[in-house]
Amino acid sequence: MSLPQFPVEGGCQCGAVRYRLRASPLSVYNCHCKDCQRFSGAAWSMSMVVRDGDFELLGGKTERYDRKADSGNVIVMNFCAHCHNWLWNDPPVGNIKVVRAGTLDDLDWAAPVGNIWTDSKAAWVEIDPGQVNFAKGAVDRTPLFEAWTRPHQD
Ligand SMILES: [Zn+2]
Ligand SMILES: [Zn+2]
Repeated sequence: MSLPQFPVEGGCQCGAVRYRLRASPLSVYNCHCKDCQRFSGAAWSMSMVVRDGDFELLGGKTERYDRKADSGNVIVMNFCAHCHNWLWNDPPVGNIKVVRAGTLDDLDWAAPVGNIWTDSKAAWVEIDPGQVNFAKGAVDRTPLFEAWTRPHQD
């Protein structure tokens, strides 16, 4: 899998909110936590970790929801103010954004390299043991970053 020519773009369903990604994300992985299942309406959601400085909001109004995580941390979730498409989260630390990868215009290059919160995955979801997997959240995302970088170096 090779990376596209950056920048690339993405946005919400109604087209009001558009964003640009100036450089490769740090990683793409699946999250099987209960919150992601509820918010995505699916068995998991695809998390794409990007540096704050690589993410540019091109237009559109967003609304936020401050979600209290089990850890006690408050995670700011950002949605399109019009169609309410879930777009990205602002974690409390790290100068990163966690963008919903499914909002990219082109998903072909964004194959996930791992899974987190596999403890709460649906019973019928099969996890590839060769990927970087965490039973709970990834306190340190370094293994997920390394797994992303490895196949994209040449
Ligand atoms: Zn929208
Ligand atoms: Zn999640």
